[in-house]
Amino acid sequence: MGILIYTESDNGKFKKSALELASYGRTIADQLGVELIAVSFNHKDSQTLGHYGVERVIQISDPSLENFTAKPYAANLAAVAEENDVKLLILSSSANAKYLAPLLAVSLSAGYASNVVELPEYIQPLTVKRSCFTNKAFSTCILENEVNIIGLSSNSYGIRENTKEIVAVDKSVTPRETNLVVENIEKSSGEVSIADADIVVSGGRGLKGPENWHLIEDLASTLGAATACSKPVSDMGWRPHSEHVGQTGKPVASNLYVAIGVSGAIQHLAGINSSKVKLVINNDPEAPFFKAADYGVVADAFEVVPQLIEKLKIFKNS
Ligand SMILES: Cc1cc2nc3c(=O)[nH]c(=O)nc-3n(C[C@H](O)[C@H](O)[C@H](O)COP(=O)(O)OP(=O)(O)OC[C@H]3O[C@@H](n4cnc5c(N)ncnc54)[C@H](O)[C@@H]3O)c2cc1C
Repeated sequence: MGILIYTESDNGKFKKSALELASYGRTIADQLGVELIAVSFNHKDSQTLGHYGVERVIQISDPSLENFTAKPYAANLAAVAEENDVKLLILSSSANAKYLAPLLAVSLSAGYASNVVELPEYIQPLTVKRSCFTNKAFSTCILENEVNIIGLSSNSYGIRENTKEIVAVDKSVTPRETNLVVENIEKSSGEVSIADADIVVSGGRGLKGPENWHLIEDLASTLGAATACSKPVSDMGWRPHSEHVGQTGKPVASNLYVAIGVSGAIQHLAGINSSKVKLVINNDPEAPFFKAADYGVVADAFEVVPQLIEKLKIFKNS
C-alpha cells in the first residue's frame, strides 16, 4: 500500500506544487507507515523529489505525453495507482489537476475532495478541511471510499525538506485512445506563472492604460513576482487573458498579493481571497479593497509605485 502524488513540471523543472505535494504526502505517509510514490511524465530528475520525502518515482516517458492531455494522463496515473495498491492519491489544485481528479475518481471509484487546506484531521475515516464558497468558508469533508483523492490547495502546507533515498523506475506508457491532441501550448508572458508565484503584483483600471504597465512589470521583476490584472483590463486588451484573476479568471493563493489601482469588486476578491497577505494601493480611501487588505496605501499609484520600486532596488542591492 502506498500514497501517490502526481508531480507537475514546467520546462524540465518540477513546479513548486510538486515539492509541496511531496512534503504533504511525506507527513501522511509517516503517519500511516507507508511508502510515498510519485509519478512524473517526461521528466528524469527524480533526485529532487527525494529531498522532499519521495521514496519511489515512476517515470513515464513518451512523446504522446509531451503536452498535458487529461485522458491519457489520467489513464497512466490510474494504472500506477492500481498496480501499487494505492489508497490515497494527492494532486495539486492546478487547472490540469482539476481536470484529472474527476477522471481518476471515476476510474478508481474514489472519493475526491478539492481545495484541501490542511493535513487530514483523521485518517480513518479520511477527514479533511477544504475551502469553499470562493474561500469565504471552510467545510469538513469525510471521504469514505476505499480509494480517495485529495486536491491540495496551493501554498497551504508549504515545502519541507525531508531527504529520503529515492528509487527511480521507468514505466512504459499505458495506451489510451484519445480524440484530442495538444499540438502547441502558448505560455503567458510573465516570467513567473500566477499559479506558482509566491508574490503576485496585479493592476487594475486605475493604471489608465497599457502604456503604464511598466510600473506593474518593474515592481514584479524587482520582487520576483508574477503579474496579474483585473477582468476589465484583460477585456480591454491591455493585458492577456491569462493574467485575469478573480471569480471568472485564475485563482491566486500567493503569500503576498499586491493590488494597484484595483477597486476590489467582489468578483475580483473571490479569486484572491486565499492569498495570505494583501497590500492595496489605491487613491480612493473608500475603495472596497481596503476592507479586505492587510496593508493599505491611500495614494496615487503613479507617485508611490516608482518610489516603492526605487526603495526595493536599494534594499536588494544593499
Ligand atoms: C459575472 C461577473 C464576473 C466578474 N469576474 C471578475 C473577475 O474574475 N475578476 C475581476 O477582476 N473582475 C470581475 N468582474 C468585474 C468586477 O465586477 C469589476 O468591475 C472589476 O473587478 C473592476 O476592475 P478594476 O478594479 O480594475 O476597475 P475599477 O472598478 O474601475 O477600479 C479602478 C480603481 O483604481 C483606482 N484608481 C484610479 N486611479 C488611480 C491612481 N492614480 N492610483 C491608484 N488608484 C487609482 C480607483 O479608485 C478604483 O478603485 C466580474 C463581473 C461580473 C458581473
